[in-house]
Amino acid sequence: MFFSDQFITILILSTLITGFLINSLADFLNLGHLNPQLPHEFLDVYDRAKYTRSQHYLRVNTRFGFITASFDLALLLAFWFGGGFGLLDTYVRDLGQNPIISGLLFTGILLFSKLLISLPFKLYATFVIEEKFGFNQTSPGLFFTDLIKSIVLSTLLGGLFLSLILWFFESLGPLAWFFCWMAGISFIMAIQYIVPTWIMPLFNRFTPLEPGPLKEAILGYAESIDFPLSQIFVMDGSKRSGKSNAFFTGFGKNKRIVLFDTLIEQQTTEELVSIIAHEMGHFKKKHILKRLLVSILQMGVIFFLISLFISHQGLFHAFFVDTVSVYAGLIFFGLLFSPIDLFLSLIMQASSRKDEYQADKFAALTTKDPHSLVTALKKLSVHNLSNLTPHPFYVFLNYSHPPVLERIYALKNIGTPGKGTLEKGPHEKGLTP
Ligand SMILES: [Zn+2]
Repeated sequence: MFFSDQFITILILSTLITGFLINSLADFLNLGHLNPQLPHEFLDVYDRAKYTRSQHYLRVNTRFGFITASFDLALLLAFWFGGGFGLLDTYVRDLGQNPIISGLLFTGILLFSKLLISLPFKLYATFVIEEKFGFNQTSPGLFFTDLIKSIVLSTLLGGLFLSLILWFFESLGPLAWFFCWMAGISFIMAIQYIVPTWIMPLFNRFTPLEPGPLKEAILGYAESIDFPLSQIFVMDGSKRSGKSNAFFTGFGKNKRIVLFDTLIEQQTTEELVSIIAHEMGHFKKKHILKRLLVSILQMGVIFFLISLFISHQGLFHAFFVDTVSVYAGLIFFGLLFSPIDLFLSLIMQASSRKDEYQADKFAALTTKDPHSLVTALKKLSVHNLSNLTPHPFYVFLNYSHPPVLERIYALKNIGTPGKGTLEKGPHEKGLTP
């Protein structure tokens, strides 16, 4: 055990730096993979100028992401090796409160400082980058009310959950991790209900879709696949950004679909139905349930691991903190866990990319109209200035959805016997016009 403090320091330090280097390499490869030639599939929807703009958007965002990530890493290292964790721990201890209050203060001060420091970056991303490319619709007033609302909400919900976890670990002994896990599951379930009914209406207005051809088409399709759809809402997404989306909320027999107003503006009725069919495909193929179960299982394993490491002296010494405490242990464990977390997210993303092909296939077969999904995907990519030719390594690290060209090829292969499986998106083929 004599090297354990240093060993932990070197382990965390090297994984943080390796993670940073891997991400930077992926960014670098991704930019090098930009192809000035417009892919053949997109000739009908993209003009050359807009395509060049989409590549410029990627360059600007990648550069900005690199600056932000470098700054974050430098800040963390400076705080860590400047003894920041130890100073903060002494400060909250000197206030003489019980361990739960000290823990809330310790975590709260860290998170709030991080938020304040990252604020200029967020302002720049919204009011300079997104503005420049015509996406931003947020006014400074809206930006700050959003910010205050999210601070209040996360203080209330996060504070409540953290208090429970700290209390369990302080008072329940070796089985604490199990009670934390149960609390976590209840929290996830509660959030599923609270978010659409209480939280989202604080940020956006949801109006029922007016009766008409679109509503009839959506309800008709839902009925044809026996999907319990209770309501369709339109969300005023345009009040913040020009980007568009659609998603489901609620569960059981009470599912609702939410369409961004910006999406309705861009897409035809057939295209909207095919997008909704894709989303319903995720339910029908049990992707949503699978993701929920996996995250519940993962949470159990994490709480168990936390219970093993939380009072490990070496972990505290690595961060120059003298006194062992549950709250600081949680934060340090988070840093120790980051490489495993990265590894798990790679598996989850690979599985999610596979699910996307399945949902696409489901939509194509049940609407009997793969063409509308293809045009819908194309319009979405053009409108959101998506990267049409991401580098495979970048996709492997960061994409929860397959690149759009691969999805289009897969859709075109459906119903063509002997043309390979859906999962084999011919990535390289898409690049040669
Ligand atoms: Zn999907």
